[in-house]
Amino acid sequence: MMTSIAVSVVGLRKRYGRTVALDGVDLDLGPGVTGLLGPNGAGKTTFLRTVATVLAPDDGTIRLLGEDPSTAAGRHAIRTRLGYCPQEPGFYPGFTTFDFVDYVAILKEMTDRRARHDEVRRVLGLVGLDEVSGKKIRSLSGGMRRRVAVAQSLLGSPDLLVLDEPTAGLDPEQRLRFREILSRRDPGQAVVLSTHQTEDVAALCQRVVVLHGAKVHFDGTTAELAGVAHDRVWRAGGPDPTARVSWIDATGQYRHVGDPPAGADLVEPTIEDGYLLLVGAAAHAPAVPETGPEAEVA
Ligand code: ADP
Repeated sequence: MMTSIAVSVVGLRKRYGRTVALDGVDLDLGPGVTGLLGPNGAGKTTFLRTVATVLAPDDGTIRLLGEDPSTAAGRHAIRTRLGYCPQEPGFYPGFTTFDFVDYVAILKEMTDRRARHDEVRRVLGLVGLDEVSGKKIRSLSGGMRRRVAVAQSLLGSPDLLVLDEPTAGLDPEQRLRFREILSRRDPGQAVVLSTHQTEDVAALCQRVVVLHGAKVHFDGTTAELAGVAHDRVWRAGGPDPTARVSWIDATGQYRHVGDPPAGADLVEPTIEDGYLLLVGAAAHAPAVPETGPEAEVA
């Protein structure tokens, strides 16, 4: 049975040597799709690995699907209801696509061979890989391998689905297909995914969390993230050196983000604008290099 809070973390901390990857993260995630945005090094993968029970935090309390992952019994209970698509799955290149997904299904304790094979075929069909099910993983393209990784995470329709950059390397058609897959899920299912594609967040996520410098910088709806840039995006015929970022858009005019001059021609902000202002603002704190986060958005 699905609990309403799938992920509940308080004071989550993780260090790798001197690098602080998570610095006191508090989050409760319920059903629906939550998108994690943030520049490289923000702590997204560390957070997702923790939620996938493959990494123990140094400090903080976690409950996943109502269970405690710090105990062996809790981890086992969580893992039977969890799907995880890591950023770099440990594929066995000599396995066929079918055999690899079947192998994961066996690890997930799907013991009935016929039902398991049906399930493997179902998830491969969902990601559009039926035709390469007999091909070795080493012969697949990068986008196909990403879809194999997504397929194995969908086995058994898990209550908690953790996806680390599931759309990286997918072409536009495959990305739309991925949106369809997530839209067909059980509404009680909780999905948490990281991405660098703000379009994916806008299209898919009921909730968005921005991680930056190992902390949560924003937690709200996509409309609220766009709202961060309310009255801060304007169009003009020429450059504006005071703008945080500017480019010539499809209208042929400059689109500026920052602090507009009086009487500026304000335009509707996007979530990318809100994200830029959040991450850009943090970039002006002394500890973070000026160029890193802004380059990330470009
Ligand atoms: P993101 O997914 O947002 O790019 P990560 O969680 O991968 O962020 O990394 C957060 C920080 O922790 C980065 O500074 C990264 O270099 C560091 N880090 C991540 N994994 C390791 C590791 N296994 N050993 C050492 N440092 C790591």
